Amino acid sequence: MSEEQLFRQTKLKLAGYYTTVMSLILGICSVAIYQIEAYNQKQSLHRELVSIAGTLHDGLEPVLTRPGQIEPEVERLIPNLCIVVTQCHSLGSVPRIHTLSVFAQSGYYVNFWDLSKTLIATTQPRLNSNIEPNSAAPFLANHHADVYAVTLKLKTVNGQAWGYLEVGRSLEHSQAYLQTLLLYLSIGYPIAVLGIGLASWWLAGIAMQPVADSYEKIQQFTADAAHELRTPIAAMQATLETALTSEGNTNPEKQGMFQTLHRQNLRLNGLIQDLMLLTRLDLNTTPPHFQPCNLNVIVSDLIEEFSAIALEKSIVPALIAEDQLAVIGNEEHLYQLIGNLIINAIHYSPDQGEVDISLQEHKHMAQIKVTDTGPGIPDDAQARIFERFYRVNQDRSRATGGTGLGLAIAQSIAQYHHGHLTVVSQIGLGSTFILELPLARAHPIWPGSSRDQSC
Ligand code: ADP
Repeated sequence: MSEEQLFRQTKLKLAGYYTTVMSLILGICSVAIYQIEAYNQKQSLHRELVSIAGTLHDGLEPVLTRPGQIEPEVERLIPNLCIVVTQCHSLGSVPRIHTLSVFAQSGYYVNFWDLSKTLIATTQPRLNSNIEPNSAAPFLANHHADVYAVTLKLKTVNGQAWGYLEVGRSLEHSQAYLQTLLLYLSIGYPIAVLGIGLASWWLAGIAMQPVADSYEKIQQFTADAAHELRTPIAAMQATLETALTSEGNTNPEKQGMFQTLHRQNLRLNGLIQDLMLLTRLDLNTTPPHFQPCNLNVIVSDLIEEFSAIALEKSIVPALIAEDQLAVIGNEEHLYQLIGNLIINAIHYSPDQGEVDISLQEHKHMAQIKVTDTGPGIPDDAQARIFERFYRVNQDRSRATGGTGLGLAIAQSIAQYHHGHLTVVSQIGLGSTFILELPLARAHPIWPGSSRDQSC
């Protein structure tokens, strides 16, 4: 995965986590707001009805003389009261007492029940047909599906039990209010989540910026350090070569030491070159010099170049070219990328092993497979071999003279060319490295070009 992809993925993850957590908190808050509002509605209705019932109770008790009997004074106090045993008065007369005018409003009602819990009078016959008073305690709420009511015991002026007074109100208004609130919350929630998502993406970008900056600084430092090391290493190399070839140096012990130093110096030089290339690719400071390249020619050239090394191990790399493949790329980089794969296949294969390189078009990509009969790579190491300096088996890899950067460079070059490099391997059965690069559609082995020319 390239750094850009890694940063983008991390930013996406960070934004995803922010959004999930914030959405959960917002969701819990929305549910809490709805519940609190529903509770408040109920409480304020309860307080209101208790207050009205108390006022009625105080106004009615002095005019009640006989248990279960509605006195004319009660009818005067409560307009629109309908006596159940007689004919109901026509509704609509204007109330004269302000406190009790609420019963003229829609939704409110008052009921009178006698001691045997039979309905005697009501202000809204439609609403309360199913309501039973609760005689257990005064001011006890009767909560039905669509009405809320409080009930109160009444006494006559002499202190005799008279019956029950029930004051209630339809829940229609409060339910409509809660439904509107629910609608606003349901519409507002996804909009808020979308806003949180966008804000999280922006915040994740800000949070990632210092990390990206320090990463770039580290890369720049590596590039600068490698660059600075180049000159002294080259000077050492020249000195060692002079010392090795000087006529006065006949001491075999010293010769051996110089040779070791020379070998290590070459290794160090290779490491610095690799590091410089990697950082150039990371920092995108290398001029691409992209041009159409013929992969068949590149692979043939490389097989020829490594034939001597392969022959030392009695290996004859085989090229299976099903198609002629052209890609747009940097010639030097492409040689290095494919060369790393072929040289690894030769290095890690046993003597008389097999190395096959196949070329074919696959899903509109140029596909190169490098297969060997080496020791194979363990599953857990397969994802890590493209990391810098990672080696499956330190001793075995060092013996090959590698720096541990070969596959990291190969992966970086593949990504630089908008391609990808993967591995399929089984312990004991060998490995196959699969490289896929976008085909150069406009240059399908360009006419007039020499087949021996790579780019
Ligand atoms: P090195 O310079 O050590 O070869 P590379 O980056 O090329 O570094 O490879 C990383 C590691 O992956 C190697 O050390 C080796 O353990 C493993 N590896 C690479 N290619 C092969 C292969 N063809 N077969 C088995 N193991 C391999």
